[in-house]
Amino acid sequence: MCEAPAGPWTAGDGGCLFGSLQGYLDALTDSLPLKAVLSAANPLYGIAPADCPLYVVHFLVMDSFVQGAWRLDEDRGPLAGAFVAALWAAGGEVRCRARVAAIESANGAVRAVRLADGDRLEAKRVVFTGHPKQLLFLCDEGALRPAFRQRLLEQPETAGIFGVAIAWAHPECSLLRRNVVIYSGLDSARQYHQPLVRQGEAPHALVCNAQRSSAGTAGADVPAVAALALAPVRPEDWAPWGESRTGQRPADYAAAKRQLAEQTLAALRATWPGAAGGMRVVETFSPLTLRDHTLNPAGSAYGLRKSAAVGQGGRMLATTRLKGLFLAGQSIILPGVVCTVDQRHRRGGDSARPAASH
Ligand SMILES: Cc1cc2nc3c(=O)[nH]c(=O)nc-3n(C[C@H](O)[C@H](O)[C@H](O)COP(=O)(O)OP(=O)(O)OC[C@H]3O[C@@H](n4cnc5c(N)ncnc54)[C@H](O)[C@@H]3O)c2cc1C
Repeated sequence: MCEAPAGPWTAGDGGCLFGSLQGYLDALTDSLPLKAVLSAANPLYGIAPADCPLYVVHFLVMDSFVQGAWRLDEDRGPLAGAFVAALWAAGGEVRCRARVAAIESANGAVRAVRLADGDRLEAKRVVFTGHPKQLLFLCDEGALRPAFRQRLLEQPETAGIFGVAIAWAHPECSLLRRNVVIYSGLDSARQYHQPLVRQGEAPHALVCNAQRSSAGTAGADVPAVAALALAPVRPEDWAPWGESRTGQRPADYAAAKRQLAEQTLAALRATWPGAAGGMRVVETFSPLTLRDHTLNPAGSAYGLRKSAAVGQGGRMLATTRLKGLFLAGQSIILPGVVCTVDQRHRRGGDSARPAASH
């Protein structure tokens, strides 16, 4: 690892661990293009450079890219399938469509999980991997300390994401096997403040990748590419439709998504004019889609935000004061398959066993 330049980015609670990416870049160089390149991948964790903890978010996420390009090969079976098989082998059970409605406790210790269908699973240990703000209504009144409840209420969220899934008749697609981030300027923070829905602008940043589609959706002879374009958006911009649920949204929500999808396609076509003709929108999703599918109350893409401004004191820990209740998942350490999987594995090593798996 290179030695980091000394500078104001090392100041504050947590010192160098929680100094900001922006502070580090400012101490490193005056070159705007270089700063833009070095912070270009921040949509992968949804935190603007000024608030992004340098080591415990930016360097950790970037390290896996620097170590080498790799991705999960799920052609021979999904990752989730491997976990289910391991759980079954250990005598576990998977319950799908089983929403946890309450985590019951008595005398300061967990004692059961109650499901929405009324089933009650007794347990001395529970590992909760949903968004931690759910604990505010899942746990018994008084089970969590008032200070912890307040912290949960105040924790900031990562950005939201608007996604467009695209069928692309483009066998030589340059997005295959790589991520491409398209920016409309050198400011890699602008996307987090862009009122996309209200103003119908083109997204300032788009993270794109693709893989060959086995479905061949583009026609008999041309192998189609399944591409995904993701734009950071502000979850609060989707609040006007917040009362609606997936599959039952009003027409103006569909119109807003259509408009953003068209803006997204226009940006892709401008980037790859030679292959602009063969793109077709297959599906779109918004922060409300994520909210309804993952039960993340805010609809943020990567859960709670680790904030350089708040420092180490603002971080959620895997252990709680409620005996037997453990937290895991992207809000606790970092977003991404590697981080969330690694962390659950470690908790397993602590002999914490989940009572119910989601
Ligand atoms: C659009 C997008 C693209 C991404 N791309 C990548 C990528 O290419 N590579 C990468 O490494 N990471 C990627 N990520 C990040 C990665 O998907 C997440 O960090 C990771 O899935 C988080 O895992 P998790 O287990 O913490 O949360 P989740 O994946 O949200 O899993 C939590 C589960 O718990 C369930 N749940 C929640 N509450 C309850 C409840 N009360 N009762 C029952 N079940 C409940 C939810 O339904 C959900 O199934 C992407 C994220 C997004 C949004």
